[in-house]
Amino acid sequence: MEYEAVIGLEVHVQLKTHSKMFCGCATAFGAEPNTLVCPVCLGYPGVLPVMNAEAVRKTILSGLMLGCEIARFSKWDRKNYFYPDMPKNYQISQYDLPLCKGGRVGKFGITRIHLEEDVAKSFHFAETSGVDFNRAGTPLMEIVSEPDMRSPEDAFAYLTALKEVLIGGGVSDCDMEKGQLRCDANVSVRPVGEKKFGEKVEIKNMNSISGVRRALAYEIQRQIAAVKRGETIVQETRRWDDDTSVTSVMRTKEHAHDYRYFPEPDLMPVEVSAAWLAEIRRAVPELPEAKRRRFVAHYGLPEYDAEVLVADASVAAYYEQAAAGSKNPKAISNWVMTELLAKFAENTIAPAQLAELVAAIDAGQISGKQGKEVFAEMFATGKNAAVIIQEKGLAQLSDAGALEGLVDQALAANPKSVADFKAGNAAAINFLKGQVIKLSKGKANPQLAGEILARKLQG
Ligand SMILES: [Zn+2]
Repeated sequence: MEYEAVIGLEVHVQLKTHSKMFCGCATAFGAEPNTLVCPVCLGYPGVLPVMNAEAVRKTILSGLMLGCEIARFSKWDRKNYFYPDMPKNYQISQYDLPLCKGGRVGKFGITRIHLEEDVAKSFHFAETSGVDFNRAGTPLMEIVSEPDMRSPEDAFAYLTALKEVLIGGGVSDCDMEKGQLRCDANVSVRPVGEKKFGEKVEIKNMNSISGVRRALAYEIQRQIAAVKRGETIVQETRRWDDDTSVTSVMRTKEHAHDYRYFPEPDLMPVEVSAAWLAEIRRAVPELPEAKRRRFVAHYGLPEYDAEVLVADASVAAYYEQAAAGSKNPKAISNWVMTELLAKFAENTIAPAQLAELVAAIDAGQISGKQGKEVFAEMFATGKNAAVIIQEKGLAQLSDAGALEGLVDQALAANPKSVADFKAGNAAAINFLKGQVIKLSKGKANPQLAGEILARKLQG
């Protein structure tokens, strides 16, 4: 029997705000432990939370970028549970009325997006443990997908595209190593053709998008093998270990939480006015998909080029600046993709300088091969193409008058080839062209030399 996987993802994203979700403490990664704290984020009794409008705005912006329906009315709820890194014993989250519903990432549906506060971070040392409350109260956006994915590759594509949109919108830096984007995966298997979902397993502790792909690949095979052996999959939470490449049980369903949600009494509901929503809508940037389409239509690029260039917003911006000053946007794309992309971080060549190099090649001033030499020198020195061409004496001979003289010499020295050409051997012109280039010590513009030769031979 053939089996298929059903995958849904829960993604937590730390929003890029200056201060925390419900207090004025700064959000910063890597600060000395417990230095960015106050009575509110330490959960002291009697304190009152104050909502961070920028976090709400960035969540709505995310919803708009992902095609969600934005709730004009939503509210806060307390999610109650005990955890050593959460001194209040509850987390302020959104339960039944999230800020955003619906939406898509590529062909995969989004169920909802809600906003909550992050918890503190525990550290375990040889004999002691410590808790750093700097992270407690950081605005955390949770994006829950529909169970639309069927393979680890689907999950990889979903996360890659989601990250691209969120970074593009300035919502988060989405650095998984810093915990700015964290992903839990729900996965089950079922016989192909079966409509009912199998018992789902939640996987935690994946630290990269490729780690998610590896964990899912392992877990899907584990479940299929178990089902084929006649075992029953039980609902449980499993931890991925990237070093040993296996998942292991963290907790089973008996330990599932009952969070006893109830409305947060210390915060007003969130009402989004039409004016504010319109203002946020105006801030929605061009999305990668739209940008790719525009690159194809406006610059006449193949889809492959558009995809490569748009994958990195700074590369796309560089390309646009260079292409704006060029008559040959496809050539600019070729140079960026083949010569620049791999070392883009160290690039010293300004977009206008690249456009100038392409123009020099297109004008026949230098050959494409010489262009690579000039490019390398530009990259190393930051000098303009014109300066390097001058310094290295690379300029091709494109002066028609000078070339005519050389053509005349070549014709006079090779009467047999001239006769061959006139007798109908068209290929004889190539030998003559070679002679012209030789006479010019390799500097003759081959195209122009060919044109002059053809004119003289036919005339
Ligand atoms: Zn605080």
